[in-house]
Amino acid sequence: MTLPLSSLFDDEVTTFADLILPVPIPKLFTYRVPRGMSEMIKVGARVIVQFGKNRVTTAIVARLHPHPPTDYQAKYILELLDEEPIVTPHQLELFSWMADYYLCNIGEVMNVALPSGLKITSQSKVQYNPDFDHPQLLTEQEVVILEEIKKHQALSYEEVARLVEQTNVTAVIKSLVGKRAVILFEEVKEKYTPKLARNVRLSAQYATPDILRDLVSALEKQPKQQEVLLKYLSYVPVLNNPDLNQKGLDKAIFRQDDGLSDSALQTLLKKGVFEQFETIISRFADLPASPAKEIKLTETQQLASRQIQEHFQDKEVVLLHGITGSGKTEVFISLIKQALESGTQVLYLLPEIALTTQIVVRLRKVFGDSMGIYHSKFSDNERVEVWKGILDGKFQFVVGVRSAVFLPFDNLGLIIVDEEHETSYKQQDPAPRYHARDVAVVMAYMHKAKVLLGSATPSLESYYHAQNGKYGLVEMFQRFGDAALPEFVLIDTKLEKKQRKMKDEFSSVLLEYLAHNLKNSEQTILFQNRRGYSPYLQCEECGWISECHNCAVSLTYHMRAAELRCHYCGHKEEVPRTCPACGSTKVKTIGFGTEKIEDQLNLIFPQARIQRMDLDTTRAKNAYQQIIQDFEAEQIDILVGTQMISKGLDFDNVSVVGIFDADRIINFPEFRASERAFQMLTQVSGRAGRRAGKPGKVLIQTANPHQSLLNKIIEGDYRGMYDNEIQEREQYGYPPFTRLIKLIVKHADYDTSHRAAEQLAEKLVAQLGRSRVLGPEPPLVERVRNQFLFEILIKLEREKINFKAAKSFIQEKVTDILTDKTLKNINVVIDVDCT
Ligand code: ADP
Ligand code: ZN
Ligand code: ZN
Repeated sequence: MTLPLSSLFDDEVTTFADLILPVPIPKLFTYRVPRGMSEMIKVGARVIVQFGKNRVTTAIVARLHPHPPTDYQAKYILELLDEEPIVTPHQLELFSWMADYYLCNIGEVMNVALPSGLKITSQSKVQYNPDFDHPQLLTEQEVVILEEIKKHQALSYEEVARLVEQTNVTAVIKSLVGKRAVILFEEVKEKYTPKLARNVRLSAQYATPDILRDLVSALEKQPKQQEVLLKYLSYVPVLNNPDLNQKGLDKAIFRQDDGLSDSALQTLLKKGVFEQFETIISRFADLPASPAKEIKLTETQQLASRQIQEHFQDKEVVLLHGITGSGKTEVFISLIKQALESGTQVLYLLPEIALTTQIVVRLRKVFGDSMGIYHSKFSDNERVEVWKGILDGKFQFVVGVRSAVFLPFDNLGLIIVDEEHETSYKQQDPAPRYHARDVAVVMAYMHKAKVLLGSATPSLESYYHAQNGKYGLVEMFQRFGDAALPEFVLIDTKLEKKQRKMKDEFSSVLLEYLAHNLKNSEQTILFQNRRGYSPYLQCEECGWISECHNCAVSLTYHMRAAELRCHYCGHKEEVPRTCPACGSTKVKTIGFGTEKIEDQLNLIFPQARIQRMDLDTTRAKNAYQQIIQDFEAEQIDILVGTQMISKGLDFDNVSVVGIFDADRIINFPEFRASERAFQMLTQVSGRAGRRAGKPGKVLIQTANPHQSLLNKIIEGDYRGMYDNEIQEREQYGYPPFTRLIKLIVKHADYDTSHRAAEQLAEKLVAQLGRSRVLGPEPPLVERVRNQFLFEILIKLEREKINFKAAKSFIQEKVTDILTDKTLKNINVVIDVDCT
């Protein structure tokens, strides 16, 4: 290493830091470390720097070195936020791998990775300028405001506004700044605030048994105070062990007891018998942690567990293919325990929705408080708590959604990806558009850890790797407790319609089973993978259809909310009373969603307890959990839902699952349609008959009962589906034989968007060949939020093509388009391994 010449004459070398800034620019930024800071600063710590003229931002130290940048004058780092790194070396490695692999910038990765509580906001504050000596320049209003500012050390704009009781003071402050009466400065503050509990304890002089006994008798005449003291001693037995006093007791506990006098407690505080103090408490304390009953693995499970460990001897990744209800979770739990005992960290990934419920309660019972939970419905403070808990060793085990791959692990031993086929593991927006399952495999490689993928319906990719010997494969084909797999009934809706047996959307067969189930107090799940009342309204006279004016898609009718809603951009409008085109009153709902099913059910079975579970009924923080709890407690007879109801739920009393509109799922225009339909329908079916002695039935309504895919679902023939599909994928060049990169060109003007897409495709074809570049073509919904979209799909063979080189070529061509002056405001999204 050569040092700059100047340093030979310095007794101290200037340190420079390469920083990750949360901006979409593809490089690190070099800043100068102030002398006083250079002893303390570490790679992985956060710093505050100025970026651009007026912006102050948080950055992460990626490298420290003595080389000044050659092409610009490095600015000083303003502040060091962490004495110890909050980002581990493994994370830094992962972040740059992600930026590289998913063709985005490391700043974008950082932005998504860090909970915003670890980022910093800067807030402008004003303070009085002591050198100001031209009061004659000020207006009356300015004098008033300046007086307030003078009184206080420093004020934010809002504080000034509140003090002078005006809504907007920006203009006045600006003028004051101009006249140099006040000085503006930035105050930076952390957003994270720990949760505090107000505790009370005995003051030190009372915390010895002898003195306490005297005190109790001395309070004989003040029974209320005595009662408070005795209550404290019942929770904190200081008489037996004076050391216990140190931790004290949550003040809220006194309030829970109606009989206790608050003023008596206040008096004791005032007398100095008790003292108050604050402690930082965990936000997760309120989750139930009652210990689990000891579970003994069945022979099948033990065998699976042994096989998994054997595979881990020489394989990084093992796929556990176990049918629904086979007890995969118990196998996971036993492996997690072993990994933790060997002293490594464990990460358990779950799809978004499954995480709020049953499985977490189950894990919690086994692992108690040492388990961290990372979930998108958690507040930012809660996420920071998990982040810090991992750093300081409190959480060796974390269960979380896809973004949990960003957490600061430094010693992972095992990563479990449950329901690995789930599409919600892929992030759509914003960049990085990563796939958490694939990232998990890369992380494991970095940590020398193992990955266990679990599913009843594996993704074709994972199963393919398992067939090839790249992954180990372990299978469980028996339900726990010998519960039988459900029996299937296919209902021909075309036939029933012809015979006029359908009642609304319900076949006579389904209605029979529903009635039967209600009579026997058994529960039913009904699945329709579409929310809202109906996907569109149509005028019978002129054919008008309700459409979004921002997107090329119909507006869904929501009856409860009495609204038409766009499921793409969120636009809402009132339901027209008459046709907006011709004035006719014959406007009808076409098609059906969960809301319509629920509505019709209520009319057919007025006595039944019916609940709907979809995005619309589960927006509130605990709504999802509440529905699951009610269903578990058998306070609901029929649960109607979208695919949300299929995710890993385990109910005792469900004997019938009904599936509507299976054809729409099977015939979805997409190359993965068969795989997806198999997964979705098998998963939903798997909710039925999960207890031995209570066999379940799955009723599928279809216009075409003879489709071969339906047959495979009924037979539970994953292998048959796989063999078919994999052949087609090979023939037509789709994953796992190729890797896909999707480019989405967006522009508000149709022609510009089209022209840019054509140009881009042409450049790509010139190098990659026509067979590897599909499109450009408008997607299914070709206009979203007033942007016209064109998609280009690039297929790159796994074996033949140098993926890295191809990607950098693609990136180059995209950059050409983005910087083309004739294509102003063009946007191109790059989605690597798109799903
Ligand atoms: P999967 O995830 O494979 O669908 P689960 O792990 O949810 O299956 O198991 C299904 C049910 O069987 C759960 O209620 C679970 O508690 C129970 N179960 C599984 N294995 C055992 C075991 N060894 N002992 C007792 N109960 C078990
Ligand atoms: Zn009309
Ligand atoms: Zn829209």
